[in-house]
Amino acid sequence: MVSIIRKTYSGVSSEQEKEIRERILRLRERIAQAAEEGGRKEEDVSLMAVTKTVDPERVNIALDAGVSLLGENRAQELMEKNSFYTCEKSRIHFIGHLQSNKIRDIINRVSCVESVDSLHLASALSAQAEKAGIIMHCLLEVNIGQEESKSGFSPEGVLDAAGEIAALPNLSLRGLMTVAPASAGQNHDDRCFGRMQELFLALREKEGSGIDTLSMGMTGDFEMAVRRGSTLVRIGQGIFGARNYRTGG
Ligand SMILES: *Cc1c(COP(=O)(O)O)cnc(C)c1O
Repeated sequence: MVSIIRKTYSGVSSEQEKEIRERILRLRERIAQAAEEGGRKEEDVSLMAVTKTVDPERVNIALDAGVSLLGENRAQELMEKNSFYTCEKSRIHFIGHLQSNKIRDIINRVSCVESVDSLHLASALSAQAEKAGIIMHCLLEVNIGQEESKSGFSPEGVLDAAGEIAALPNLSLRGLMTVAPASAGQNHDDRCFGRMQELFLALREKEGSGIDTLSMGMTGDFEMAVRRGSTLVRIGQGIFGARNYRTGG
């Protein structure tokens, strides 16, 4: 596997490195600005670098430039890349759709699964965490736009599900995650983020102060999400540029 990676991923030019560092600086400025507009503090918003299709050398530049977290979408890609990363698993979150039969592959490589989208997955994850002797942090993914193409809990169902999931022995429920609906327009996105904020506050009311993470906002919509209370923005293309799916798999 190591040799495949070395062949597939090319080196990073100093130009590319500079570009990544500058993009991260600009992002931080925009996050700070949006936080201020939302009456919030910049330091209450974490910046995650989403690594799908990006080779480990470029990911490590983002780490060096100070991103807090990495977000991984695919179990296979995580397994191929994570030993090259210059960070501990405490700074890696799983954010993609997770099949139960892949849990074993990721359980010791990430500190949080943000994309828990069913009771079935939650209990399977808790069971594997128990076998591994760990407590896995998790967020519940909400299908806020009620899109057929997306998985996740419905806005109406997520609080009841959270009660059941919080009771699982080897999971620590930390909050909610969402991906805004595809191209439904700015006003609609803003309403969705506003609804997420209400759900997040309701969840914290119900489950207590261990609920501290509202993961929402990507390259195209993170400022709106930050104004609506996001504590974690997940940025891919805004850090690494357009994705090249040919080399990423
Ligand atoms: C790809 C991805 C992102 C980042 O998207 P960009 O538009 O590249 O910023 C964030 N969250 C999830 C779940 C993703 O799959």
